[in-house]
Amino acid sequence: MAETAAKPKPAPEAEQDLTDGFNLVIDALKLNGLTTIYGVPGIPITDFGRMAQAAGIRVISFRHEQNAGYAASIAGFLTKKPGVCLTVSAPGFLNGLTALAHATTNCFPMILISGSSEREIVDLQQGDYEEMDQLAIAKPLCKAAFRVLHAADIGIGVARAIRAAVSGRPGGVYLDLPAKLFGQVMDAEAGKKSLVKVIDAAPAQIPAPDVIKRALDVLKGAKKPLIILGKGAAYAQADDAIRTFVEKSGIPFLPMSMAKGLLPDTHPQCAGAARSTVLKDSDVVMLIGARLNWLLSHGKGKAWGDAPKKFIQIDIEPKEMDSNVEIVAPVVGDIGSCVSALLQGMGAKWPSPQADWVNAVTSKREENIAKMAPRLMNNNSPMDYHGALGVLRTIVKERPDAILVNEGANTLDLARGIIDMYQPRKRLDVGTWGIMGIGMGYAVGAAIETGKPVLCVEGDSAFGFSGMEVETICRYKLPVCIVIFNNDGIYRGTDVNTVSSDPAPTVFVKGSRYDKMIEAFGGVGVNATSPDELKRAVNAAMDSGKPTLINAVLDPAAGSESGRIGNLNPQSKIRKN
Ligand code: ADP
Ligand code: MG
Repeated sequence: MAETAAKPKPAPEAEQDLTDGFNLVIDALKLNGLTTIYGVPGIPITDFGRMAQAAGIRVISFRHEQNAGYAASIAGFLTKKPGVCLTVSAPGFLNGLTALAHATTNCFPMILISGSSEREIVDLQQGDYEEMDQLAIAKPLCKAAFRVLHAADIGIGVARAIRAAVSGRPGGVYLDLPAKLFGQVMDAEAGKKSLVKVIDAAPAQIPAPDVIKRALDVLKGAKKPLIILGKGAAYAQADDAIRTFVEKSGIPFLPMSMAKGLLPDTHPQCAGAARSTVLKDSDVVMLIGARLNWLLSHGKGKAWGDAPKKFIQIDIEPKEMDSNVEIVAPVVGDIGSCVSALLQGMGAKWPSPQADWVNAVTSKREENIAKMAPRLMNNNSPMDYHGALGVLRTIVKERPDAILVNEGANTLDLARGIIDMYQPRKRLDVGTWGIMGIGMGYAVGAAIETGKPVLCVEGDSAFGFSGMEVETICRYKLPVCIVIFNNDGIYRGTDVNTVSSDPAPTVFVKGSRYDKMIEAFGGVGVNATSPDELKRAVNAAMDSGKPTLINAVLDPAAGSESGRIGNLNPQSKIRKN
C-alpha cells in the first residue's frame, strides 16, 4: 500500500501538452500556406471545419462537393498552390472525385482531403457507415493518392500531397484521412516536430542549351510560323517573358481558350480571329503549354491542311512529346525557364517572319472581325447570341480585370470567340473535358482567391448543374454576376416529342425565371429581354458587387446542336421518325 502511494500520480490528460489529428492537419496546412478550404461538412469532418475556421483558415462551405471541388481546382490554376477540397466519406468523396479527376485532366494542382470509415471494418467489408475503399477508387483518377493512419505521419502526408500536386505537371492528389485519425492524441512537441514545411515544392526545370538551340533553329527556318499558347502558359505565370518572346519573334499567336488575355486578344499579332487559316497554312508551330489533344484536332487531319508541318513543343511533361504527332524540337521544362532561355538564345536581333505571311494572317483576321461586327450590335428581343454577347463584350472591355466564367454549348463557343480578353487568367471555362457544371464552383473559387468581380456567362442547361450554389454566393456575399442565356433548353428550346405528352429530352420549362432563384437568398434577380436591359443589369451588378442573377431571355430557336462540336455527336441514319 505504502509503495503504491509513493508513486507520482499521472497528470490528468488536460494538463499535459497534447495535440491530435484535427490540430495536426490544420497546423500542417497552415505551415504550408494553405489557408482556404472548400468543402461540405459532415461525418467525420464537421468539427475539423469548425476548428480550421477558428484557427484562421478560410472555410467555404458549399451545397454539393462537386462544386467545392471545382472551386478548389480553379484556385489551384489561379494561384499555383494546391486548392484544397474537404469531403465526407463515401458519397461525399465520390461527389468530390469528379472535380479531382477534372483537376488532373486539366493539369491544375488540387488536394482532395476526404474523411473515411474504419479501415478494419472497410477491409473486411463488414458494412461500416459509408463504407468504401476510397484510396483504391481515387488512385486511377488522380496524380497521386495517400492515406495517413498515424497522427505522427500527418506532416509527411500533407507534404507529399503538396509536392505531388504542384511539381512537374500539376494535378489532383487524394489524401485519405480515416475518422479515427482525427481523434488520435500525441505529445504536442513531438507533433510539432513531425510537421514538414515543403521547400521548393515546384522546382524550376531548366532546359539544356542544345534543346534551346534546336528549337530556335527550327523556328528560324520557318516561312509561316505560328505560336499556340495554352492554359499551361497561363498557369505558369511567366506573363512578361511570354509577351516579350512573342513580340520579339513577331510571330502570330493563337491563344487556347483559357490562355486568352495572356496577351490581349486585340494585340496586332493575335490570330484568334484567323484560327482556321493559321492552323491550315502555318509550316512551323510552336506549342507553349498546350497539348495536341482533341481541342487542336490532334495536330493532324482536315483542320491542319495538307502542307507539311513541324512542331516545337514546350511542356513540363516529357511524356507529352510525340503524343499525337512527331515533335521535331521538344523543349521539356517549366515555361518560365524555357521561354527565358529561348529569349536569351535569340540574341539582340531576331529576323521578323516574312511579311506576306504576317499580312495574310492580319487581313484574314480583319475580314472576319468586320464580318462579325454588325451582328454584335443588334438589339433584338428576344435576344440572339450575338446581340447578348455584343453587350457583354463591351462590358469586359471596360472592366478588363473582371473574371469571366463561361460554360454551355453555344453559350461557350460563341462567347469564347466574341468576348475579347485583355489580362492573363481572366477567362475560366470548361477546359480539357468540355465539362458542364464548373460554373458556380469556379465563380466562388475565383471570387475568393482574387477578390475581383466575377461575371458568369452560363447556358441555362450548364447552370443547372451547380445552380444551388447561388445560395453559397449570397451567403458569402461574393461579387458574382451570373447571366443565364435562357433559350428554354439544351442547344435549343424548340424540340417537340411527337409520340407522348412527355417533353422532348432536350427542353426545359418554357419561360423559366432563373432570376427568382437568387431572390430566395437575398440576391438581386433581373429578367432581361433585350441587349439594352442586359447591359444595364450587368453594369449595375458589377458596380454594386452584389450577388446578381440575370435571366437573359433568348430566342428558343437560337442555338445549334452541340454548339461547334456537333461533329462529335453521332446521329442515327436509320431513325424511325
Ligand atoms: P490548352 O487546353 O489550353 O491547350 P492543355 O491543358 O492542353 O492546354 O495543356 C497544358 C499543358 O501545359 C500541359 O501539357 C501541361 O503539362 C503543361 N504545363 C502546365 N504547367 C506548366 C509549366 N509550369 N511549365 C510547362 N508546362 C506546363
Ligand atoms: Mg440552352
